[in-house]
Amino acid sequence: MMKSIGIIGAGVAGLHLGLQLRQHGIATTIYTNRTPDEVADGRVMNSVAHMHVTLELEEDLGINHWTEDEYYYTHHYHYNGWGEQRTYQGQFAAPSRTLDYRIYLPRLMEDFTDRGGVIEYRDLEVADIQDLSEIHDLVVVSTGKGEIGAMFPKRPDKSPYDRPQRKLAVGFWKGVERCDPNGVGVSVVPGVGELLAIPMWSFTGDVMALLFESVPGGPQEVLTDQRYADDPAAYKQLTLDILKEHHPTVFERVSLENFRLQSDKDILQGAFTPVMREDYSRLPNGKFLLALGDVHLTMDPVQAQGANSTAYSARVVGDAILEDDVFDERFMKKVASRRSERLEAANDWINTMIHIPTPPQIPALFSAMVDNQALVDEFTENFNHPIRQIDLLASEERVEAAVNRASA
Ligand SMILES: Cc1cc2nc3c(=O)[nH]c(=O)nc-3n(C[C@H](O)[C@H](O)[C@H](O)COP(=O)(O)OP(=O)(O)OC[C@H]3O[C@@H](n4cnc5c(N)ncnc54)[C@H](O)[C@@H]3O)c2cc1C
Repeated sequence: MMKSIGIIGAGVAGLHLGLQLRQHGIATTIYTNRTPDEVADGRVMNSVAHMHVTLELEEDLGINHWTEDEYYYTHHYHYNGWGEQRTYQGQFAAPSRTLDYRIYLPRLMEDFTDRGGVIEYRDLEVADIQDLSEIHDLVVVSTGKGEIGAMFPKRPDKSPYDRPQRKLAVGFWKGVERCDPNGVGVSVVPGVGELLAIPMWSFTGDVMALLFESVPGGPQEVLTDQRYADDPAAYKQLTLDILKEHHPTVFERVSLENFRLQSDKDILQGAFTPVMREDYSRLPNGKFLLALGDVHLTMDPVQAQGANSTAYSARVVGDAILEDDVFDERFMKKVASRRSERLEAANDWINTMIHIPTPPQIPALFSAMVDNQALVDEFTENFNHPIRQIDLLASEERVEAAVNRASA
């Protein structure tokens, strides 16, 4: 049987799936509302790090075009706001990669059409999706965080929050020195929030993505609330003041002379409520839609899991499409069951980290890592392995067990 698959959205979700299907010659159309040029010329959307498990998926897909050293990092440089001794570093078993998605996604769109995939540029509404389900054997919805996601019911058991737990502000800055060996600064300060200083590769080469994750009501949230565009100079000064006061290990790498945003498009300010939705929904015509990516699971970016989980999920979906010809409820349930353990683990891990107040095992873990290299390396490497991570930190008892095991 000749299968025909429709995918809505050309983010990492839609493209990873589409590229895998094209590797196997399956007729695939991606419907999306932004051209590669619009993505490349657009505002920054995120500051994504791909862990080595994701890079392995990209190797299989034949899409790792970015092999030079400057795209990769190997360490996490912690600044721990709890306790006396405050700095330590963890090492990954294999490097992670950071690349501006405005470079990454347009290149993958090109790969997809080079492989015979079709991209149709349309701004779809919920009503259009039923029409597409008549044309294709299966329609996968991967439109990200927008309204279309509401076609899939929210799962109350896996969506514990009714409001954002962090307010976000991310800018791509010049004038912040990389660490050596290259790595992400992870600065965690109680009552303030987190700062991730991510060495990113962008249009001008080396930039530092400063992702401020601010506790609502805390001293850092002004970086989300005060609009950059209203007064760029004041915003830059505010950023420096907050770095100096709360994140000294990042501040000491700033060159005051060179510190500036890469461009006015390189800042994103906002907040969203994390949500996990049902894997699939049934249309009035009896056909099923499958959710993929942020539509299915939107997590706070504090531990870099959204796109990595999405790439994993796309592979599960792709493999299931390859082995099956019928896209009925049985198919939907099969996909749901195969991907649930890892996706739910990532969701539980992130929702533990951002809980207000911080659960007691988190400061216990962060403080124990100060002088336990095996533990900090395990925590770091587990950014690849959400199931192991939630096993490590789901409760005080689990953290205590991990500390003992790593000390042995
Ligand atoms: C600040 C920040 C930092 C992050 N850092 C990391 C990280 O380090 N590691 C990590 O793994 N994840 C990270 N993430 C999460 C990651 O960015 C997302 O999980 C991932 O990009 C989601 O991909 P997606 O394909 O599901 O959605 P999207 O990338 O949002 O793609 C949606 C697609 O659908 C299209 N579309 C939307 N609506 C319509 C419509 N109505 N009609 C037609 N097309 C439509 C869009 O144009 C787009 O092509 C971060 C997120 C943020 C905000």
